[in-house]
Amino acid sequence: MAERDYYDVLRVERTASREDIKRAYRKLAMQYHPDRNPEDPDAGEKFREASRAYEILHDPETRARYDQFGHAGVSGIGGAGSGDFDLSDALRAFMRDFGGFEDLFGRSRGRGGRSRGPLKGSDVQTRLKVTLEEVATGVEKTLRVKLLQRCAACSGRGSTTGEPETCPTCQGAGEVRQAQRSIFGQFVSLHVCPRCEGEGKVVTDPCRSCGGEGRVREEKRIKVRIPAGVESGNYLTLRREGNVGPRGGPQGDLLIVIEVEPHEVFERRGDDVLLELGISFPQAALGAEVEVPTLDGAATLGIPAGTQSGNVLRLAGRGIPRLGGGPRGDLLAQVSVWIPTRLSAEERSALERLGESENFVPPKSVKGFWSKVREAFTT
Ligand SMILES: [Zn+2]
Ligand SMILES: [Zn+2]
Repeated sequence: MAERDYYDVLRVERTASREDIKRAYRKLAMQYHPDRNPEDPDAGEKFREASRAYEILHDPETRARYDQFGHAGVSGIGGAGSGDFDLSDALRAFMRDFGGFEDLFGRSRGRGGRSRGPLKGSDVQTRLKVTLEEVATGVEKTLRVKLLQRCAACSGRGSTTGEPETCPTCQGAGEVRQAQRSIFGQFVSLHVCPRCEGEGKVVTDPCRSCGGEGRVREEKRIKVRIPAGVESGNYLTLRREGNVGPRGGPQGDLLIVIEVEPHEVFERRGDDVLLELGISFPQAALGAEVEVPTLDGAATLGIPAGTQSGNVLRLAGRGIPRLGGGPRGDLLAQVSVWIPTRLSAEERSALERLGESENFVPPKSVKGFWSKVREAFTT
């Protein structure tokens, strides 16, 4: 795939300053960061592309080479021929210059009063589509989720050799004291250590696989059991199945948000499912047994003689189970009587003869009459 012009990628002029480039990249990176777009694989590619452009253009030396020779002048820089600069390179570049995604959004900073020790990983939200049939029975699904997982190369420590070192700025305390003088005397305030961000440790020889983060983004397959009766917007929380924290920090949670797909035939009404059922004029007049689809196979439905268009016939217990137990809802079949649109000469004369019978003349209409006729069948 041909690489786009790096200035176009960052949407800046060729005369843009370093600050302009940094600002443009930060904006794009925040928009397309994979943590913000877990469902969108295109976002990851856009993030990668913007990061690659930033890598080249924010450094005056590589920028000059790019300006003179184009992509050919910078291939192989930053571990990167055009195809070699991958998403983890991009995440590393971003974290190096912007100090981690979580910081930007003020998330995953929930230190809860603790200012020392490993940071917790962020929660991850993902959507899961299920069909109405699956809702009726419950289902076990395997999801694929891109998650930050422990880096195997360094066992999550972040450093190539041995353990990270005690942070020299805070001596491992994770926080620093700042004394301020005022007319009332001296105040001492505590802040999270800017060097180690509260971990108390720093990596001096970062692992090449994870850039010292101790975690890498990888796809994980996760099996979940979806109970019968769920609705769109319901969610499951899998504790400690989200992103791992940097350098051995505990995992966040994985939130699975259910999305029930619209059905071709059925419409859901709470625990009931509604079906539009076409029947013939003789079936409506004489009564009949017809086969109807349900969420668990075909069933036989009795049409009483004299059924009107709009009548709703009920098949008890063929709807959706209530979430968490309880009786199943019903299948509601709303009848439409099919009036033929083409008639043979023989059919036409038979109908003309029938039309003369007073049984075929609808009753005089009074307000609400037809609704009452329909309701008579709606049980
Ligand atoms: Zn590593
Ligand atoms: Zn520190």
